Amino acid sequence: MNRFLTALACGALCALPLVTHAAPSAAKRAAVASVETHAADLSGLSDKIWEYAETALREHKSSKVLADYAEQQGFTVTRGVSGMPTAFIARFGNGKPAIGIMGEYDALPGVSQKAIPEKSPLVEGAAGHGCGHNMFGAASLGAALAIKEQIAAGKLKGTIVFYGTPAEEAVGGKSYMARDGVFNEVDVMFAWHPGDESMADMTTSQAMVDLMVEFKGQSAHAASDPWNGRSALDGALAFMNGVEMMREHMRSSSRVHYVVVDGGDVPNVIPDHAKVWIWARDQKRAEVDALYARIRKIAEGAALMTETQSTVHLQGGSWEVLVNEPGAKLMDANLRWIGSPAYTADEEEFAKKIQSATKVPAVGMERKIRALNDQEEEGGSTDVGDVSWIVPTVTLTVATAPKAAPWHAWPVVATGGMSIGHKGLVVASKTLAATMVDLYESPKALREVRSEFEKRRGDVVFKAYLPDGPPPLPKD
Ligand SMILES: [Zn+2]
Repeated sequence: MNRFLTALACGALCALPLVTHAAPSAAKRAAVASVETHAADLSGLSDKIWEYAETALREHKSSKVLADYAEQQGFTVTRGVSGMPTAFIARFGNGKPAIGIMGEYDALPGVSQKAIPEKSPLVEGAAGHGCGHNMFGAASLGAALAIKEQIAAGKLKGTIVFYGTPAEEAVGGKSYMARDGVFNEVDVMFAWHPGDESMADMTTSQAMVDLMVEFKGQSAHAASDPWNGRSALDGALAFMNGVEMMREHMRSSSRVHYVVVDGGDVPNVIPDHAKVWIWARDQKRAEVDALYARIRKIAEGAALMTETQSTVHLQGGSWEVLVNEPGAKLMDANLRWIGSPAYTADEEEFAKKIQSATKVPAVGMERKIRALNDQEEEGGSTDVGDVSWIVPTVTLTVATAPKAAPWHAWPVVATGGMSIGHKGLVVASKTLAATMVDLYESPKALREVRSEFEKRRGDVVFKAYLPDGPPPLPKD
């Protein structure tokens, strides 16, 4: 029995909490069929990006392969956005509603891995797609293409905009695009992310601020005339001790973590330079602002007591994701209609081998779709948060990796480069396309999404946690 019939039967008989009990429209069925038609292309794009494994702002081949495909499919493509050569925008259609969808494609350093269920780098020490962004970009573009085809066929009216957003793992490409007003033209934004289970997202993320705290002192011979010196490293140590004293008096939702990136050169020269790289996070941006102010005071105090100079450099950050309940309900209904992938015995075996290798329960892939009211907040930040304060943003998670296996690590790369990942990205693409169709077809649904966004946002005006100036492009 196909899923459409199952959903209908259950909608009537089991009173499932579906939002859209009506039969899927012709445009929705056609959009889902379009994803199916292009499924091999989308998996091919994902596999190419998986192989390229390019890190933040170095995604030249990855962004090109997506932008070229969009162009071939009839989108108008603008390459190079907000000072980032690897950001691009692909547009199709005219007028309202204008719906946006974001795709990421940056990899993580050091997690190169073959598509096999045991740890084995494809290229020793190289980058890998340990967060599954190869699938993220391809599936989002697939959903945009499905909508484009319905607009071209006259079945939907409006504009579809695909945003190629680089450097999520470092720098935060979306934050620069958000600062420049790139997302202002759309009424609603969509995104998804690979995961170890599937759900329409009702959870937020942590707002965060990324700071480099620099100390300057005076060098002297550490043994013959130490009284002439003032150690920048002492400033850094006093600063870190101060942060530890602050830790006792933070909210339990707050997180602060740091590393010493410069502590001087040799023991017999009193260091005149030191740097501590520190991140502060909380589920509320207002708390991050408060931590930021306290960290500034601690840096000043540390400098005062060690007779050094401190400077706090803002490097970046992001706001927490503003969730959208009406949008999540639509996404949830569509995800349940599309359903989780059916895995073969070999795929389950692949997942279980990874779970055994990483010492988590060997339960295989998670097929259950998590309910909207059964989601727990997890740690982590994303530049999607910034976008969600500018335009209502509806997001999805789809299983592409074995349940509970380590994230940002080789298992995610392994399944993201084979059929488990392909199946996940097709489910994501179909679910996103189907949910977008709902908003094109129902002005009421669009109004509900927008009015809840306005209520949650209140009168807060978005301002990115970014230094002035262009994004920090890699020099090599
Ligand atoms: Zn990610």
